Amino acid sequence: MNIHLLIDGEAKAAASGRTFERLDPVTGAVASTSAAAGIEDANAAVASAAAAFESWSKTGPGERRALLMKAADIMDAKAGDFIAAMIAETGATGGWAGFNVMLAAGIIREAAAMTTQIGGEIIPSNKPNTLAMGVYKPKGVCLGIAPWNAPVILGTRAVAMPIACGNTVVLKASELCPAVHRLIGECFNEAGLPKGVLNVVTNAPEDAAAIVEALISNPAVKHVNFTGSSRVGRIIGRLAGENLKPALLELGGKAPLIVLDDADIDGAVNAAIFGAFMNQGQICMSTERIIVDEKIADEFVAKLSARAAALPAGNPREHVVLGALVTPQAAEKMDRIMADATAKGGKIVAGGKRTGAIVEATVVDHVKPGMTIYEEESFGPVKPVIRVQGEEEAIRVANDTEYGLSAAVFSRDVQRAMRVADRIQSGICHINGPTLNDEPQMPFGGVKASGYGRFGGKAAIAEFTDLRWITIEDSQQHYPF
Ligand code: NAD
Repeated sequence: MNIHLLIDGEAKAAASGRTFERLDPVTGAVASTSAAAGIEDANAAVASAAAAFESWSKTGPGERRALLMKAADIMDAKAGDFIAAMIAETGATGGWAGFNVMLAAGIIREAAAMTTQIGGEIIPSNKPNTLAMGVYKPKGVCLGIAPWNAPVILGTRAVAMPIACGNTVVLKASELCPAVHRLIGECFNEAGLPKGVLNVVTNAPEDAAAIVEALISNPAVKHVNFTGSSRVGRIIGRLAGENLKPALLELGGKAPLIVLDDADIDGAVNAAIFGAFMNQGQICMSTERIIVDEKIADEFVAKLSARAAALPAGNPREHVVLGALVTPQAAEKMDRIMADATAKGGKIVAGGKRTGAIVEATVVDHVKPGMTIYEEESFGPVKPVIRVQGEEEAIRVANDTEYGLSAAVFSRDVQRAMRVADRIQSGICHINGPTLNDEPQMPFGGVKASGYGRFGGKAAIAEFTDLRWITIEDSQQHYPF
């Protein structure tokens, strides 16, 4: 696959002519060869978006909605291309890739529906004969930076609502899945989006910092949305702050799933298995800490480990539940996490083996503070069980992390679960459901080191517009002097 930049509606090579390769994590073969943009290419993408903003920002909602609906249909029709590119570039399973396309097309359709909801309000004014309004207006050029782990969903989410709100966009693709992110641009381009409304820039990994800095500091860029690690999120937040630009940051997670002593144990096991091991645990909402009341822990762990041990892991081209991790290095990190946990008293009760980039669904019981797996986002299929004595300790452990994206509580007493959920510091919390869940119309985002701002539904309108105060007044009004 040869991937070009999308600038001004056209496929272009990098000005320097440079390219970079992305390797298949399972086979080691070249999955894609992409244009390695330099700063001049990044600035050309911004210039194109800035020029397109003049007319795109003045389009009516009907026009924007029709184009978005068409892009969603094209995305569905290209599902096969997306799935093939995702398997090759990220090692994901076909099931996860297909789900990505389905949810991403839904995100575009929801954004299409929102075009008529970007309204405002009439505000009572103290001035006689005055009509005062708060009106949501597009901001200008929005920069979107998306990661590889749910690449169709997160790349689409970075551009759909900004475009629906009348902004123009530069999407900076992940170096780990440039072909997948470029396909998103193709869907909008084929739908007939005017040139420059969506540009896609691919870059070599070693150029990421310079390209991102050039994009954020470009005066035409008015807003930044970033999905990725908290480490890079801090860099993005600092650059945005220095340039006095608002940023929406969707960062890492360490989602707790609390199983209280009165929980539906089988239901909690099902949620934990799905939340922990979908996409090999490489999701920001992945269940990263299974916090279980000691009273039911033996039964819960026995059932959880039996289910985990039965999940097939292997080449995503075969019939498996767990595919590969995104790189062999990410898989090697799992070895280190397991060795650290077992050296400090943790017990592996399911899985534990790695072959190249493929790691079995692994459960580590008796995890305690001080173990890497307790403290850090694993972003892989090695998951800790932390046994606690009662509700108070469960809440304390759930909050004993710098992250705060998703969470879950299992209890048959919904009032009790509500009280516990209320005390968990997270942007998202599900009672009797998995930590893993996303729908286009929901307010999605975190607190603490998981970032700030919200994608999804009406919350996203506030992110991607400026609220302007406009008045119509009496030219003959009274002045004090
Ligand atoms: P990452 O932060 O390593 O990379 C993200 C992007 O940052 C890349 O496109 C890269 O080009 C850029 N980047 C790298 N170094 C940079 C630098 N020095 N300056 C500026 N930009 C730089 O993240 P990743 O590994 O691609 O994604 C995994 C992370 O994303 C996990 O932590 C996961 O939890 C998080 N995530 C969060 C959400 C969410 O919605 N909250 C969703 C998915 C993933």
